[in-house]
Amino acid sequence: MADYDVIVVGAGNAALAAAVSAREQGAGRVAVLEKAPRELRGGNTHYSGGLFRFAYDSAEDLRPLVPDAEKEVPGFFASVEPYPQKRFWDDLLRVTESRTDPELAEILIGRSYDTLRWVGEQGVRLEPAVSLSAVRVGGTIKWSPGAVIRAQHEGVGLSASWFKIAAARGAEIAYDTGVLRLSQDGSGRVTGVVVQDPNGTREMTAKAVVLGCGGFEANPEWRARYLGRPWDHAKVRGTRYNQGDGLRMAIEIGALVHGQWTGCHSTPIDADAPPHGDRKLTDKTNRLSYPYGVLVNAKGRRFFDEGEDFQFYTYAKLGGIILNEPSGVGYQIFDQKVVDLLEGRYKTGQPIVADTLADLVARLPVDREACLDTLTRYNAAVKSGAFDATVKDGLATSGLPLPKSNWAQGLDAPPFVAYPVTGGITFTFGGVRVNAQAQVLSTRWQPIPGLYACGEMVGGLFHINYPGGSGLMSGAVFGRIAGANAAGGQ
Ligand SMILES: Cc1cc2nc3c(=O)[nH]c(=O)nc-3n(C[C@H](O)[C@H](O)[C@H](O)COP(=O)(O)OP(=O)(O)OC[C@H]3O[C@@H](n4cnc5c(N)ncnc54)[C@H](O)[C@@H]3O)c2cc1C
Repeated sequence: MADYDVIVVGAGNAALAAAVSAREQGAGRVAVLEKAPRELRGGNTHYSGGLFRFAYDSAEDLRPLVPDAEKEVPGFFASVEPYPQKRFWDDLLRVTESRTDPELAEILIGRSYDTLRWVGEQGVRLEPAVSLSAVRVGGTIKWSPGAVIRAQHEGVGLSASWFKIAAARGAEIAYDTGVLRLSQDGSGRVTGVVVQDPNGTREMTAKAVVLGCGGFEANPEWRARYLGRPWDHAKVRGTRYNQGDGLRMAIEIGALVHGQWTGCHSTPIDADAPPHGDRKLTDKTNRLSYPYGVLVNAKGRRFFDEGEDFQFYTYAKLGGIILNEPSGVGYQIFDQKVVDLLEGRYKTGQPIVADTLADLVARLPVDREACLDTLTRYNAAVKSGAFDATVKDGLATSGLPLPKSNWAQGLDAPPFVAYPVTGGITFTFGGVRVNAQAQVLSTRWQPIPGLYACGEMVGGLFHINYPGGSGLMSGAVFGRIAGANAAGGQ
């Protein structure tokens, strides 16, 4: 007789969705094993912006999710564009260069709306993602389609809600309890886990095990191994506990790997951000308003088309691009025409300020002559036209070898401000291969009986880049599926 019906490894969004789903589908005893101590619980989910990307046919579909939205944002439902499944598909295919696994993507996209409804029904409070998604220009408010809803109180609220809900549904949550390896019987079925807690190591048995214990983003040795230089030096935006344990233990028993193992999600963050996520600052070190300014490296040169697309479609690759520049740093430069457009998160940083571009450059640790030359050439390359932050306005530079394709205005309204940035790693893309039931496949391309995976551990969905808000959605979708099937004891 097993100790538990289902053991869930990890305690982020994916794992707790799995635990709640398992209980909902009739699992008797469900254990949630969290390696972190209670005060550091919740994985990357705690640090996240709480944003969920999902498909909906009309703004009216959002009403059941955020019935009170108009109280906070008058005119909310009239201002949101539809985001049908086809648009989610287009975004995912575009940013992953068509490498996303179509079967997994179909599940993610096709079940996104229904799953977010389920998340809300479980008791996670949702709200319009005002500070993340809304751009206000004059009287107009424009939402980034598909990325309009987040958990109340962001990742902190999402994580706290999931813990509360899981406990209320009877899941037994153990902290300081890291899983070391999986146990199997002679037939190859997973029968439990070996854990380490403050009392030592011991075995816990279960009819099924769900792995929801993150990627290897916090493990510098694995980053060096799979992502290469300079990723061993990257700052970690979230939890320090995602060390690749789940991937290692699944691979040890023959799990099939999947997806882009050289890829990860990485964003521009404050160059002075701490080496691991800060529980209070959470995602506030992000610096994502670069489409409105100019980005230079330590050599004083531009290296990225700041206006390639809206930030939600470029931010997740830009961190890595910055990290690969000399010293892994960049400087985002803005003038007074756009400072009001900078995300509120910039307030957590200390900009360098000066009244002339020459003075600003003199205060930056860059090749000053080259930097001034870059900014002068940039200013000479902007064209006249109407700047509009709410659309890709086509206001592009002319004649630069590296264009700025949209929102290219001259830097001519002092004082000028510069924010130093580096690339912070969020999560890794490589994972294990799961089927539509979230069962982990073996290298024999057969499900490993009794083993499921969800969240960051699922490989194949994201490659090269990522549409913002898809990580939590994937975790909820595959967590819910994994928990339900684990409860069924397949
Ligand atoms: C700063 C930041 C902002 C983000 N913002 C967003 C956003 O707004 N929207 C979005 O979609 N995504 C966002 N993301 C990404 C998103 O947070 C992750 O994709 C998602 O939270 C991953 O969920 P998960 O459950 O797979 O992993 P996690 O939430 O990381 O949970 C993994 C858990 O496993 C535990 N664990 C690890 N090893 C073991 C072990 N051996 N035994 C037991 N437990 C173990 C960890 O302690 C942790 O609790 C953000 C991430 C960060 C860091």
